[in-house]
Amino acid sequence: MLIAVDIDEVLADFSRGLVEYYNKKHGLYLPGFHETMTEWWQAWGETRAEAVERVYEFVRSREIIELEPIPGSVAGIKELKALGHELIVVTGRPIESMDETWAWLEVYYPGAFRRAYSTDFHIISQDKDRENKGDICARRGVKLLIDDFYDYCREASERGVPSLLFTTPWNRHLQLPADISRVNSWPEIVERLKNF
Ligand SMILES: [Mg+2]
Repeated sequence: MLIAVDIDEVLADFSRGLVEYYNKKHGLYLPGFHETMTEWWQAWGETRAEAVERVYEFVRSREIIELEPIPGSVAGIKELKALGHELIVVTGRPIESMDETWAWLEVYYPGAFRRAYSTDFHIISQDKDRENKGDICARRGVKLLIDDFYDYCREASERGVPSLLFTTPWNRHLQLPADISRVNSWPEIVERLKNF
């Protein structure tokens, strides 16, 4: 089965890396992401555009190569491959960061992913013709998306692709429709995919 895997918060511990980068580089205390947020940019009490700029600066720095993998993801990806699944990654990271992104993936998950797709979601002036994650999944024959962002799972649902929502503090409170299932860890993902 062809499975699309999101990168940030599913494979890469992005939010911790971002906060550490900011606190070190700017001597500024940015709080981490927390449970009372409904949208990630609320972590810093600022507008979406301001928060997007912070994310952009971090993503463009070469420091994204230093991110730690999410616990269990290295073994989990290996197990999905061993079960015979085909894997791609779909990320909202900017296209210009994809060389470093691919290099990072090859460090922790060598040879695991067939391709990496970017939707470049941080672009503030949205191009309506741009493919979203749901379009990418549907057009490439993806049978399942694994993502931590509910809106992307919804995009996949709209294109007939079911998904697994990886639990994070900011999606824990959401009630999910039937075609989006919650998973709390990589071992749980592997258990579910043994039955496909
Ligand atoms: Mg993510």
